[in-house]
Amino acid sequence: MHSRIAADHAELTRLLEEVRAHAAGVLARMDEREVVPSGRVPEPEGLPGEGAGLAGALAAFADRWEPAFSASAGPRYLGFVTGGATPAALAGDWMTGVWDQNSVTSLDGAGQSLERETVGWLRELFGLPEGHRGTFVGGATASNFVGLAVAREWLGERAGVSPAEDGAGALGDVRVLSGAAHSSVFKALAMLGLGRRSLVGVPTVDGRECVDVAALEGALRDAGGPCVVVANAGTVNTGDFDDLRAVAGLRERYPFWLHVDAAFGGFAALSAAHAHLVEGIGAADSICVDLHKWLNVPYGSALQFTRRPDLQAAVFRNAAAYLRPLGETPDLVHLTPENSRRLRALAAWFALRAYGREGHREIVERCTACARALGDAVEAVPGLRLLAPVRLNVVCFTFADRPDAGRLAALAERVSGEAFLTPTVHAGVPALRAAFSGWRTGEADVRRVAAALREAVPRV
Ligand SMILES: *Cc1c(COP(=O)(O)O)cnc(C)c1O
Repeated sequence: MHSRIAADHAELTRLLEEVRAHAAGVLARMDEREVVPSGRVPEPEGLPGEGAGLAGALAAFADRWEPAFSASAGPRYLGFVTGGATPAALAGDWMTGVWDQNSVTSLDGAGQSLERETVGWLRELFGLPEGHRGTFVGGATASNFVGLAVAREWLGERAGVSPAEDGAGALGDVRVLSGAAHSSVFKALAMLGLGRRSLVGVPTVDGRECVDVAALEGALRDAGGPCVVVANAGTVNTGDFDDLRAVAGLRERYPFWLHVDAAFGGFAALSAAHAHLVEGIGAADSICVDLHKWLNVPYGSALQFTRRPDLQAAVFRNAAAYLRPLGETPDLVHLTPENSRRLRALAAWFALRAYGREGHREIVERCTACARALGDAVEAVPGLRLLAPVRLNVVCFTFADRPDAGRLAALAERVSGEAFLTPTVHAGVPALRAAFSGWRTGEADVRRVAAALREAVPRV
Protein backbone atom coordinates (compact mmCIF):
# COMPACT_ATOMS: atom_id res chain seq x y z
CA MET A 1 0.00 0.00 0.00
CA HIS A 2 1.30 3.47 -0.81
CA SER A 3 2.54 5.21 2.32
CA ARG A 4 -0.02 8.05 2.08
CA ILE A 5 -2.93 5.61 1.88
CA ALA A 6 -1.46 3.45 4.62
CA ALA A 7 -1.09 6.50 6.89
CA ASP A 8 -4.71 7.59 6.26
CA HIS A 9 -5.89 4.04 6.85
CA ALA A 10 -4.05 3.87 10.16
CA GLU A 11 -5.53 7.23 11.25
CA LEU A 12 -9.01 6.72 9.82
CA THR A 13 -10.99 7.34 13.00
CA ARG A 14 -9.21 10.61 13.82
CA LEU A 15 -9.38 11.80 10.20
CA LEU A 16 -13.11 11.15 9.90
CA GLU A 17 -13.55 13.09 13.14
CA GLU A 18 -11.67 15.99 11.51
CA VAL A 19 -13.89 15.85 8.40
CA ARG A 20 -16.99 15.72 10.59
CA ALA A 21 -15.88 18.80 12.53
CA HIS A 22 -15.13 20.65 9.30
CA ALA A 23 -18.52 19.71 7.81
CA ALA A 24 -20.34 20.83 10.94
CA GLY A 25 -18.51 24.17 10.73
CA VAL A 26 -19.50 24.66 7.09
CA LEU A 27 -23.14 23.94 7.86
CA ALA A 28 -23.17 26.17 10.94
CA ARG A 29 -21.98 29.12 8.83
CA MET A 30 -24.12 28.39 5.76
CA ASP A 31 -26.65 31.08 6.65
CA GLU A 32 -24.00 33.83 6.83
CA ARG A 33 -22.32 33.26 3.49
CA GLU A 34 -23.11 35.16 0.34
CA VAL A 35 -25.66 33.02 -1.51
CA VAL A 36 -23.78 33.54 -4.78
CA PRO A 37 -20.10 34.08 -3.93
CA SER A 38 -18.56 37.25 -5.34
CA GLY A 39 -14.96 35.90 -5.30
CA ARG A 40 -13.10 34.48 -8.28
CA VAL A 41 -13.29 30.86 -9.44
CA PRO A 42 -9.90 29.14 -8.87
CA GLU A 43 -7.67 28.38 -11.84
CA PRO A 44 -7.17 24.66 -12.51
CA GLU A 45 -3.97 23.14 -11.12
CA GLY A 46 -1.95 20.22 -12.47
CA LEU A 47 -2.36 16.61 -11.31
CA PRO A 48 -0.57 16.02 -8.00
CA GLY A 49 2.26 13.52 -8.34
CA GLU A 50 2.77 13.08 -4.62
CA GLY A 51 -0.62 13.31 -2.90
CA ALA A 52 -1.24 15.43 0.21
CA GLY A 53 -3.10 12.76 2.20
CA LEU A 54 -6.70 13.20 3.36
CA ALA A 55 -5.95 16.08 5.76
CA GLY A 56 -3.96 17.89 3.08
CA ALA A 57 -6.72 17.40 0.51
CA LEU A 58 -9.31 18.74 2.96
CA ALA A 59 -7.17 21.80 3.66
CA ALA A 60 -6.66 22.45 -0.07
CA PHE A 61 -10.39 22.05 -0.76
CA ALA A 62 -11.29 24.41 2.10
CA ASP A 63 -8.75 26.95 0.88
CA ARG A 64 -9.27 26.94 -2.90
CA TRP A 65 -12.76 25.71 -3.63
CA GLU A 66 -15.12 26.19 -0.70
CA PRO A 67 -15.02 30.00 -0.87
CA ALA A 68 -16.19 29.77 -4.50
CA PHE A 69 -19.18 27.53 -3.77
CA SER A 70 -22.75 28.83 -3.61
CA ALA A 71 -24.93 28.49 -0.54
CA SER A 72 -27.26 26.15 -2.39
CA ALA A 73 -27.56 24.10 0.81
CA GLY A 74 -28.77 27.20 2.64
CA PRO A 75 -32.17 28.86 3.07
CA ARG A 76 -32.17 31.60 0.42
CA TYR A 77 -30.98 29.79 -2.69
CA LEU A 78 -34.23 30.14 -4.61
CA GLY A 79 -33.01 29.54 -8.16
CA PHE A 80 -34.16 26.58 -10.27
CA VAL A 81 -35.96 24.28 -7.80
CA THR A 82 -33.32 23.46 -5.25
CA GLY A 83 -33.64 21.73 -1.92
CA GLY A 84 -30.81 21.22 0.51
CA ALA A 85 -30.10 18.09 2.51
CA THR A 86 -31.85 17.48 5.82
CA PRO A 87 -29.61 16.18 8.62
CA ALA A 88 -30.85 12.61 8.17
CA ALA A 89 -30.56 12.75 4.37
CA LEU A 90 -26.97 13.93 4.73
CA ALA A 91 -26.20 11.09 7.13
CA GLY A 92 -27.82 8.65 4.70
CA ASP A 93 -25.63 10.02 1.93
CA TRP A 94 -22.51 9.57 4.07
CA MET A 95 -23.51 6.00 4.89
CA THR A 96 -24.05 5.34 1.18
CA GLY A 97 -20.35 6.02 0.67
CA VAL A 98 -19.38 4.11 3.80
CA TRP A 99 -21.13 0.93 2.65
CA ASP A 100 -20.52 1.52 -1.06
CA GLN A 101 -23.12 -1.01 -2.15
CA ASN A 102 -23.67 -1.71 -5.82
CA SER A 103 -27.39 -2.22 -5.41
CA VAL A 104 -28.32 -3.71 -8.75
CA THR A 105 -28.56 -7.41 -8.01
CA SER A 106 -29.71 -9.74 -5.28
CA LEU A 107 -26.62 -11.93 -5.62
CA ASP A 108 -24.73 -10.22 -2.82
CA GLY A 109 -26.89 -8.59 -0.16
CA ALA A 110 -29.96 -6.54 0.61
CA GLY A 111 -29.19 -3.20 -1.08
CA GLN A 112 -31.87 -3.43 -3.70
CA SER A 113 -34.39 -4.69 -1.13
CA LEU A 114 -33.81 -1.49 0.83
CA GLU A 115 -34.40 0.39 -2.41
CA ARG A 116 -37.71 -1.45 -2.92
CA GLU A 117 -38.80 -0.66 0.64
CA THR A 118 -38.01 3.01 0.02
CA VAL A 119 -39.91 3.01 -3.28
CA GLY A 120 -42.93 1.60 -1.41
CA TRP A 121 -42.75 4.42 1.15
CA LEU A 122 -42.53 7.02 -1.61
CA ARG A 123 -45.46 5.51 -3.50
CA GLU A 124 -47.50 5.91 -0.32
CA LEU A 125 -46.17 9.42 0.30
CA PHE A 126 -47.32 10.53 -3.16
CA GLY A 127 -50.63 8.65 -2.88
CA LEU A 128 -50.00 6.39 -5.88
CA PRO A 129 -51.79 3.07 -6.37
CA GLU A 130 -50.07 -0.29 -5.74
CA GLY A 131 -49.80 -0.99 -9.45
CA HIS A 132 -46.97 1.54 -9.80
CA ARG A 133 -43.46 0.13 -9.62
CA GLY A 134 -40.57 2.50 -9.08
CA THR A 135 -36.84 2.75 -9.57
CA PHE A 136 -34.29 5.29 -8.41
CA VAL A 137 -32.47 7.28 -11.08
CA GLY A 138 -30.09 10.25 -10.95
CA GLY A 139 -32.60 13.07 -11.45
CA ALA A 140 -35.86 14.09 -13.10
CA THR A 141 -34.22 14.26 -16.52
CA ALA A 142 -33.20 10.61 -16.20
CA SER A 143 -36.67 9.82 -14.85
CA ASN A 144 -38.36 11.48 -17.83
CA PHE A 145 -35.93 9.59 -20.09
CA VAL A 146 -36.83 6.22 -18.57
CA GLY A 147 -40.56 6.98 -18.55
CA LEU A 148 -40.47 7.97 -22.21
CA ALA A 149 -38.36 4.92 -23.07
CA VAL A 150 -41.16 2.78 -21.63
CA ALA A 151 -43.67 4.85 -23.61
CA ARG A 152 -41.66 4.21 -26.78
CA GLU A 153 -41.79 0.47 -26.11
CA TRP A 154 -45.55 0.72 -25.53
CA LEU A 155 -45.96 2.38 -28.93
CA GLY A 156 -43.98 -0.55 -30.32
CA GLU A 157 -46.26 -3.03 -28.62
CA ARG A 158 -49.25 -1.35 -30.28
CA ALA A 159 -47.55 -1.51 -33.68
CA GLY A 160 -46.25 -5.07 -33.27
CA VAL A 161 -42.56 -4.07 -33.18
CA SER A 162 -39.93 -3.54 -30.48
CA PRO A 163 -37.98 -0.29 -30.72
CA ALA A 164 -35.57 -1.68 -28.11
CA GLU A 165 -34.74 -4.58 -30.46
CA ASP A 166 -35.24 -3.04 -33.88
CA GLY A 167 -34.43 0.63 -33.27
CA ALA A 168 -36.68 3.66 -32.96
CA GLY A 169 -37.00 3.77 -36.76
CA ALA A 170 -39.31 0.75 -36.56
CA LEU A 171 -42.00 3.05 -35.17
CA GLY A 172 -42.29 5.50 -38.02
CA ASP A 173 -43.64 8.92 -37.07
CA VAL A 174 -44.12 9.43 -33.33
CA ARG A 175 -46.05 12.29 -31.76
CA VAL A 176 -45.45 13.40 -28.21
CA LEU A 177 -48.06 15.95 -27.13
CA SER A 178 -47.51 18.39 -24.30
CA GLY A 179 -48.61 21.84 -23.21
CA ALA A 180 -45.56 23.28 -21.47
CA ALA A 181 -43.00 20.47 -21.49
CA HIS A 182 -39.85 20.87 -19.41
CA SER A 183 -36.62 21.22 -21.42
CA SER A 184 -35.50 17.80 -20.19
CA VAL A 185 -38.34 16.15 -22.13
CA PHE A 186 -36.76 17.40 -25.38
CA LYS A 187 -33.40 16.05 -24.23
CA ALA A 188 -34.96 12.68 -23.44
CA LEU A 189 -36.59 12.51 -26.88
CA ALA A 190 -33.22 13.30 -28.48
CA MET A 191 -31.55 10.47 -26.54
CA LEU A 192 -34.35 8.03 -27.40
CA GLY A 193 -33.98 8.45 -31.14
CA LEU A 194 -37.47 9.92 -31.39
CA GLY A 195 -36.02 13.36 -31.91
CA ARG A 196 -36.79 16.71 -30.34
CA ARG A 197 -39.14 17.45 -33.22
CA SER A 198 -41.44 14.61 -32.21
CA LEU A 199 -42.73 16.94 -29.50
CA VAL A 200 -45.88 18.67 -30.70
CA GLY A 201 -46.70 21.69 -28.55
CA VAL A 202 -50.35 21.84 -27.57
CA PRO A 203 -51.84 25.27 -26.77
CA THR A 204 -52.14 26.12 -23.11
CA VAL A 205 -54.96 27.94 -21.38
CA ASP A 206 -54.70 31.69 -22.08
CA GLY A 207 -51.86 33.27 -20.10
CA ARG A 208 -51.17 30.04 -18.23
CA GLU A 209 -48.92 27.00 -18.59
CA CYS A 210 -51.55 24.29 -18.12
CA VAL A 211 -52.66 22.48 -21.24
CA ASP A 212 -55.94 23.41 -22.90
CA VAL A 213 -57.73 20.07 -22.65
CA ALA A 214 -59.98 20.76 -25.66
CA ALA A 215 -56.89 21.57 -27.74
CA LEU A 216 -55.25 18.37 -26.51
CA GLU A 217 -58.30 16.42 -27.59
CA GLY A 218 -58.05 18.03 -31.03
CA ALA A 219 -54.37 17.09 -31.27
CA LEU A 220 -55.16 13.49 -30.28
CA ARG A 221 -57.84 13.36 -32.96
CA ASP A 222 -55.36 14.72 -35.52
CA ALA A 223 -52.74 12.16 -34.49
CA GLY A 224 -55.13 9.44 -35.70
CA GLY A 225 -53.35 6.70 -33.76
CA PRO A 226 -51.43 5.85 -30.60
CA CYS A 227 -49.20 8.63 -29.26
CA VAL A 228 -47.62 9.87 -26.05
CA VAL A 229 -48.91 12.67 -23.85
CA VAL A 230 -46.58 14.37 -21.38
CA ALA A 231 -48.72 16.06 -18.74
CA ASN A 232 -47.15 18.59 -16.44
CA ALA A 233 -47.67 18.68 -12.69
CA GLY A 234 -45.72 21.75 -11.61
CA THR A 235 -44.14 23.83 -14.37
CA VAL A 236 -40.85 25.51 -13.51
CA ASN A 237 -41.89 29.03 -14.54
CA THR A 238 -45.09 29.40 -12.58
CA GLY A 239 -45.80 26.10 -10.82
CA ASP A 240 -48.85 25.44 -12.99
CA PHE A 241 -50.63 22.09 -13.27
CA ASP A 242 -52.43 20.33 -16.10
CA ASP A 243 -55.87 19.01 -15.19
CA LEU A 244 -54.61 15.45 -14.78
CA ARG A 245 -58.03 13.91 -14.26
CA ALA A 246 -59.38 15.45 -17.47
CA VAL A 247 -56.24 14.49 -19.42
CA ALA A 248 -56.37 10.90 -18.18
CA GLY A 249 -60.08 10.81 -19.02
CA LEU A 250 -59.26 11.31 -22.71
CA ARG A 251 -57.86 7.79 -22.79
CA GLU A 252 -61.43 6.51 -22.94
CA ARG A 253 -61.57 7.87 -26.48
CA TYR A 254 -57.95 8.00 -27.69
CA PRO A 255 -55.06 5.58 -27.32
CA PHE A 256 -52.07 7.23 -25.64
CA TRP A 257 -49.39 6.65 -23.05
CA LEU A 258 -49.72 9.19 -20.25
CA HIS A 259 -46.44 10.32 -18.74
CA VAL A 260 -46.64 12.88 -15.92
CA ASP A 261 -43.67 15.10 -15.15
CA ALA A 262 -44.28 15.80 -11.47
CA ALA A 263 -40.64 16.57 -10.67
CA PHE A 264 -41.51 18.88 -7.80
CA GLY A 265 -45.30 19.19 -8.22
CA GLY A 266 -45.76 15.61 -6.99
CA PHE A 267 -45.12 16.96 -3.49
CA ALA A 268 -48.43 18.87 -3.65
CA ALA A 269 -49.96 15.54 -2.57
CA LEU A 270 -48.47 16.07 0.91
CA SER A 271 -50.41 19.25 1.60
CA ALA A 272 -54.17 19.15 2.20
CA ALA A 273 -54.49 22.63 0.70
CA HIS A 274 -52.70 21.65 -2.53
CA ALA A 275 -53.41 17.94 -3.03
CA HIS A 276 -56.20 18.76 -5.52
CA LEU A 277 -53.49 19.93 -7.94
CA VAL A 278 -52.32 16.33 -8.47
CA GLU A 279 -55.72 14.65 -8.35
CA GLY A 280 -55.78 11.89 -10.93
CA ILE A 281 -51.99 11.41 -11.06
CA GLY A 282 -52.36 7.74 -10.13
CA ALA A 283 -53.98 7.09 -13.52
CA ALA A 284 -50.70 7.90 -15.32
CA ASP A 285 -48.71 5.16 -17.05
CA SER A 286 -45.40 6.64 -15.94
CA ILE A 287 -44.51 9.40 -13.48
CA CYS A 288 -41.36 11.39 -12.77
CA VAL A 289 -40.69 12.78 -9.27
CA ASP A 290 -37.45 14.44 -8.24
CA LEU A 291 -36.15 13.77 -4.77
CA HIS A 292 -33.14 16.08 -4.71
CA LYS A 293 -35.56 18.97 -4.94
CA TRP A 294 -38.37 18.87 -2.39
CA LEU A 295 -37.45 15.73 -0.47
CA ASN A 296 -34.21 17.54 0.39
CA VAL A 297 -31.82 14.67 -0.23
CA PRO A 298 -28.42 15.41 -1.82
CA TYR A 299 -28.15 15.61 -5.60
CA GLY A 300 -28.41 12.49 -7.72
CA SER A 301 -31.85 11.23 -6.70
CA ALA A 302 -35.21 10.93 -8.42
CA LEU A 303 -37.94 8.34 -8.73
CA GLN A 304 -39.38 6.90 -11.86
CA PHE A 305 -42.74 5.14 -11.51
CA THR A 306 -44.49 3.02 -14.09
CA ARG A 307 -47.32 0.53 -14.36
CA ARG A 308 -45.44 -1.47 -16.98
CA PRO A 309 -42.16 -2.73 -15.50
CA ASP A 310 -42.27 -5.49 -18.14
CA LEU A 311 -41.83 -2.89 -20.91
CA GLN A 312 -39.18 -1.15 -18.84
CA ALA A 313 -37.22 -4.40 -18.64
CA ALA A 314 -37.66 -4.89 -22.37
CA VAL A 315 -35.64 -1.67 -22.81
CA PHE A 316 -33.13 -1.81 -19.96
CA ARG A 317 -32.51 -5.55 -19.48
CA ASN A 318 -28.87 -6.42 -19.35
CA ALA A 319 -28.23 -10.06 -20.17
CA ALA A 320 -24.86 -11.32 -18.97
CA ALA A 321 -23.64 -14.69 -17.73
CA TYR A 322 -22.82 -13.24 -14.30
CA LEU A 323 -26.23 -11.64 -13.70
CA ARG A 324 -29.56 -13.16 -12.66
CA PRO A 325 -32.15 -13.59 -15.41
CA LEU A 326 -35.24 -11.37 -15.44
CA GLY A 327 -37.70 -13.62 -13.59
CA GLU A 328 -40.80 -12.38 -11.75
CA THR A 329 -39.05 -9.57 -9.88
CA PRO A 330 -36.21 -8.37 -12.09
CA ASP A 331 -33.02 -7.22 -10.42
CA LEU A 332 -32.60 -3.46 -10.73
CA VAL A 333 -29.80 -3.86 -13.25
CA HIS A 334 -32.57 -4.78 -15.72
CA LEU A 335 -34.63 -1.64 -15.06
CA THR A 336 -32.31 1.37 -15.12
CA PRO A 337 -30.03 3.09 -17.64
CA GLU A 338 -26.94 2.46 -15.53
CA ASN A 339 -25.71 -0.96 -14.54
CA SER A 340 -23.49 -0.41 -11.51
CA ARG A 341 -24.85 2.38 -9.34
CA ARG A 342 -24.68 3.69 -5.80
CA LEU A 343 -27.39 2.83 -3.30
CA ARG A 344 -28.97 6.21 -3.85
CA ALA A 345 -32.16 5.12 -2.07
CA LEU A 346 -30.36 5.26 1.27
CA ALA A 347 -30.48 9.05 1.71
CA ALA A 348 -34.24 9.00 1.02
CA TRP A 349 -34.63 6.03 3.37
CA PHE A 350 -32.91 7.95 6.17
CA ALA A 351 -35.00 11.07 5.49
CA LEU A 352 -38.30 9.17 5.55
CA ARG A 353 -37.33 7.04 8.54
CA ALA A 354 -36.22 10.12 10.46
CA TYR A 355 -39.00 12.59 9.63
CA GLY A 356 -41.82 10.53 8.16
CA ARG A 357 -44.79 11.81 6.27
CA GLU A 358 -45.49 14.53 8.84
CA GLY A 359 -41.99 15.99 8.80
CA HIS A 360 -42.02 16.20 5.04
CA ARG A 361 -45.55 17.58 5.00
CA GLU A 362 -44.34 20.38 7.28
CA ILE A 363 -41.48 21.23 4.87
CA VAL A 364 -43.89 21.39 1.92
CA GLU A 365 -46.41 23.52 3.80
CA ARG A 366 -43.75 25.90 5.11
CA CYS A 367 -42.36 26.32 1.58
CA THR A 368 -45.79 27.08 0.11
CA ALA A 369 -46.44 29.59 2.93
CA CYS A 370 -43.07 31.24 2.17
CA ALA A 371 -43.93 31.43 -1.53
CA ARG A 372 -47.27 33.04 -0.75
CA ALA A 373 -45.60 35.50 1.61
CA LEU A 374 -42.97 36.47 -0.98
CA GLY A 375 -45.73 36.82 -3.58
CA ASP A 376 -47.55 39.28 -1.29
CA ALA A 377 -44.29 41.10 -0.57
CA VAL A 378 -43.44 41.43 -4.28
CA GLU A 379 -46.85 42.95 -4.97
CA ALA A 380 -46.07 45.52 -2.27
CA VAL A 381 -42.67 46.51 -3.75
CA PRO A 382 -43.16 49.63 -5.89
CA GLY A 383 -42.10 48.80 -9.46
CA LEU A 384 -42.62 45.02 -9.28
CA ARG A 385 -45.59 42.84 -10.15
CA LEU A 386 -46.42 39.15 -10.06
CA LEU A 387 -46.58 37.58 -13.50
CA ALA A 388 -48.66 34.63 -12.31
CA PRO A 389 -50.56 33.78 -9.13
CA VAL A 390 -48.56 31.74 -6.60
CA ARG A 391 -50.11 28.29 -6.96
CA LEU A 392 -47.59 26.23 -5.01
CA ASN A 393 -43.96 27.14 -4.32
CA VAL A 394 -42.88 29.28 -7.29
CA VAL A 395 -43.04 33.08 -7.38
CA CYS A 396 -42.74 34.50 -10.90
CA PHE A 397 -42.42 38.29 -11.07
CA THR A 398 -41.18 41.14 -13.20
CA PHE A 399 -41.03 44.91 -13.43
CA ALA A 400 -44.37 46.66 -13.48
CA ASP A 401 -43.17 48.51 -16.56
CA ARG A 402 -40.25 47.99 -18.97
CA PRO A 403 -39.66 44.33 -18.02
CA ASP A 404 -36.52 43.83 -20.09
CA ALA A 405 -34.14 40.92 -19.53
CA GLY A 406 -31.09 43.14 -18.96
CA ARG A 407 -32.70 45.07 -16.11
CA LEU A 408 -33.95 41.84 -14.56
CA ALA A 409 -30.44 40.36 -14.73
CA ALA A 410 -29.12 43.49 -13.03
CA LEU A 411 -31.74 43.10 -10.30
CA ALA A 412 -30.86 39.43 -9.76
CA GLU A 413 -27.17 40.35 -9.60
CA ARG A 414 -27.78 43.11 -7.05
CA VAL A 415 -29.58 40.80 -4.63
CA SER A 416 -27.34 37.78 -5.26
CA GLY A 417 -25.52 37.98 -1.93
CA GLU A 418 -28.85 37.69 -0.13
CA ALA A 419 -30.76 35.39 -2.48
CA PHE A 420 -30.28 33.47 -5.70
CA LEU A 421 -33.08 34.00 -8.25
CA THR A 422 -33.13 32.68 -11.81
CA PRO A 423 -34.34 34.39 -14.99
CA THR A 424 -37.10 33.12 -17.25
CA VAL A 425 -39.60 34.21 -19.87
CA HIS A 426 -43.28 33.60 -19.22
CA ALA A 427 -45.99 34.36 -21.79
CA GLY A 428 -43.37 36.30 -23.76
CA VAL A 429 -42.44 38.50 -20.80
CA PRO A 430 -38.94 38.32 -19.22
CA ALA A 431 -39.19 37.62 -15.50
CA LEU A 432 -37.42 36.34 -12.42
CA ARG A 433 -38.53 33.43 -10.36
CA ALA A 434 -38.02 32.27 -6.81
CA ALA A 435 -38.76 28.64 -5.96
CA PHE A 436 -39.10 27.47 -2.36
CA SER A 437 -38.10 23.89 -1.67
CA GLY A 438 -35.39 24.06 0.99
CA TRP A 439 -36.00 22.52 4.42
CA ARG A 440 -34.39 25.45 6.27
CA THR A 441 -36.25 28.34 4.67
CA GLY A 442 -38.63 30.35 6.83
CA GLU A 443 -40.51 33.63 7.09
CA ALA A 444 -37.40 35.52 8.24
CA ASP A 445 -35.70 34.54 4.97
CA VAL A 446 -38.68 35.81 3.01
CA ARG A 447 -38.42 39.16 4.82
CA ARG A 448 -34.70 39.36 3.95
CA VAL A 449 -35.34 38.60 0.26
CA ALA A 450 -38.19 41.13 0.12
CA ALA A 451 -36.02 43.78 1.78
CA ALA A 452 -33.19 43.13 -0.70
CA LEU A 453 -35.62 43.52 -3.63
CA ARG A 454 -37.14 46.69 -2.21
CA GLU A 455 -33.69 48.18 -1.80
CA ALA A 456 -32.45 47.09 -5.26
CA VAL A 457 -35.39 47.92 -7.55
CA PRO A 458 -34.88 51.70 -7.61
CA ARG A 459 -31.17 51.19 -8.40
CA VAL A 460 -31.45 49.14 -11.59
C1 LIG B 1 -36.14 20.06 -12.32
C2 LIG B 1 -37.09 19.53 -13.28
C3 LIG B 1 -36.72 18.58 -14.25
C4 LIG B 1 -35.29 18.14 -14.43
O1 LIG B 1 -34.76 17.69 -13.23
P1 LIG B 1 -33.23 17.34 -12.99
O2 LIG B 1 -33.26 16.79 -11.62
O3 LIG B 1 -32.50 18.65 -13.10
O4 LIG B 1 -32.81 16.36 -14.01
C5 LIG B 1 -37.70 18.09 -15.06
N1 LIG B 1 -38.98 18.51 -14.98
C6 LIG B 1 -39.36 19.45 -14.09
C7 LIG B 1 -40.78 19.88 -14.06
C8 LIG B 1 -38.44 19.98 -13.20
O5 LIG B 1 -38.83 20.89 -12.30
